[in-house]
Amino acid sequence: VLQVRDLHKTYNGNQVLKGVEFDINKGQVKAVLGPSGSGKSTMLRLMALLEPADSGEILLKGSRIGSREHKGKVLHLPERALAIQRQEVGMVFQRFNLFPHLSAERNVMLGLTSVKGISHHEARAQAREMLQKVGLDNRADHYPSELSGGQQQRVAIARALVMNPSVMLFDEPTSALDPELVGEVLEVMENLAESGMTMIVVTHEVRFARRVANQVTLFDGGVIVEQAEPEQFFENPQHERTRKFLSHVH
Ligand code: ATP
Ligand code: MG
Repeated sequence: VLQVRDLHKTYNGNQVLKGVEFDINKGQVKAVLGPSGSGKSTMLRLMALLEPADSGEILLKGSRIGSREHKGKVLHLPERALAIQRQEVGMVFQRFNLFPHLSAERNVMLGLTSVKGISHHEARAQAREMLQKVGLDNRADHYPSELSGGQQQRVAIARALVMNPSVMLFDEPTSALDPELVGEVLEVMENLAESGMTMIVVTHEVRFARRVANQVTLFDGGVIVEQAEPEQFFENPQHERTRKFLSHVH
């Protein structure tokens, strides 16, 4: 459902992505591991169309998104077009990025009313349903400051899901949480995976990657080093770099 081809990104001369390539099929869960600074977040931001790539392409359901080619040059799409395409790609950040002045329910409703143009009444019904899915139907009227980190992150997941995306991207969704709150967020993600959602999860949670992912990827130095099914990846990695990485996280 999502394909990335030869993606490059440089920040002030610092080459962060050096030709990233991968595919993810519908219903697959891909876990992405890799050292700090290797470009994992950058790759997700590009796929979520939050920033333009320097070159390369991103295809969603077979169609190029974010940019087009014209006479050999990459042209980035105008903001209007990007806003429409972004609905297809849900993103959940390490820091929950909720609007502090809006209740949980209002946070979830906002994209529906402002981007999709859905009526307040209908948006509210959909937001309630989504909050129920993440186990927060009794917290709809709470403001972010009145919610635990785990609850805030579940609101953020509901907010992304309510837009009915084709793929969900998670950028270290549990690494800002107190250890006792990690489980509730992973459980919501695991349920989501079981419901057939296509997911890319950048994470340090090796146990989650092993149990839930269909594919595990090691990202290092702006490229994908290794990509395999969990058992193969953890038990019999093909690359020395992967073995070294795993020796640090196990
Ligand atoms: P972490 O595990 O610490 O989250 P990461 O793999 O997600 O790391 P990125 O956040 O993608 O890594 O950053 C990769 C490199 O790109 C880093 O060297 C970082 O300093 C640089 N970088 C990222 N975003 C920007 C930006 N907006 N401007 C300049 N440099 C950036
Ligand atoms: Mg990161």
